[in-house]
Amino acid sequence: MIEDKNQSHTDLSNLGEFALIDHLTKHFKIHHKSTVKSIGDDAAVLSFEDKKVVVTTDLLVEGVHFDLSYMPLKHLGYKAVMVNLSDVYAMNAEATQITVSIAVSNRFPLEALEELYAGIETAANLYNIDVVGGDTTSSTTGLLISVTAIGQALEDEIVYRDGAKPNDLLVVSGDLGGAYMGLQVLEREKEVYKVNPNNQPDLEPYTYIVERQLKPEARKDIIQLLKELEVRPTAMIDISDGLSSEIIHICTNSKVGCDVYENKIPLDPQVISTCEEFNIDSTTVALNGGEDYELLFTVSQEDFPKIKANPSLSIIGYITEASSGMHLVTRADTKIELKAQGWKNFNA
Ligand code: ADP
Ligand code: MG
Repeated sequence: MIEDKNQSHTDLSNLGEFALIDHLTKHFKIHHKSTVKSIGDDAAVLSFEDKKVVVTTDLLVEGVHFDLSYMPLKHLGYKAVMVNLSDVYAMNAEATQITVSIAVSNRFPLEALEELYAGIETAANLYNIDVVGGDTTSSTTGLLISVTAIGQALEDEIVYRDGAKPNDLLVVSGDLGGAYMGLQVLEREKEVYKVNPNNQPDLEPYTYIVERQLKPEARKDIIQLLKELEVRPTAMIDISDGLSSEIIHICTNSKVGCDVYENKIPLDPQVISTCEEFNIDSTTVALNGGEDYELLFTVSQEDFPKIKANPSLSIIGYITEASSGMHLVTRADTKIELKAQGWKNFNA
């Protein structure tokens, strides 16, 4: 679907590895004092003084995690950074540096890597991140991209998955299910295109959900908001695999149960209408869809007045004793056990 607008195709073998790295990264700015040495030596050197350091990594594989027939490389670069920053923010930490490692086959020209790195650079500048290193190697088939993100926080600011207590409120940022429904639309259009390449897809009615899939944002703003509100979550996780799976992670790690209210789960109108069109239950999509990169956290009841009126936050339930189990309270007011399907098994 995405037409290749690049006329020039510079073969990667024409460049040495150093020239390639230099070409791709020479424009990158350094934003942080903590970056003592960036790209160009055997290792980067970082200095965090009195802060704790958080480190997280994610690997994205072509054909498994992304499909280049509808994922522009620029978006892929951006998303690869976002999925990592999201994990740093989920620790209530500030993301400061990333490294980027890629394996590329010779079917990718230099111009393709320029696109990928343009997305990485956009993300780095918008989120105030230094790109301090990486690795580059060849691959016999597809494209592989691995990002490692580094962040900092004071020891007592860090929020783990295991701090939720009975009676805490369960809170989610933004809305859910958009990324999954965006993927359904893109997959459908890909099939249409295969049958008739002249058939240009009309994605206009799906702008929001397609963007949620192709250009997710990590919720740095929510971490800042919580600081401003002087709310420190008792437990937190980012929503990469679907709401129910992440709730179960928090409850299992914290040794608690929960009641989640179906009618409190935040859904965008475009998610609801697209679910109707595809004849899929929107609650199922929100619970199992994944890739929304919103934050799920618990706060003490005392913090209720600080968060209740915030349009970016939804209180979807509360924490109970472990012996009560983990439940979804449906619109019909029946209790059903929360199960983690996760997006990987979702199509089965
Ligand atoms: P080494 O041989 O010691 O692994 P490299 O030649 O791989 O060193 O890397 C040289 C420098 O370029 C290092 O600072 C490394 O972190 C950086 N680098 C390598 N590949 C990438 C990449 N894909 N993106 C950003 N920086 C990279
Ligand atoms: Mg190397």
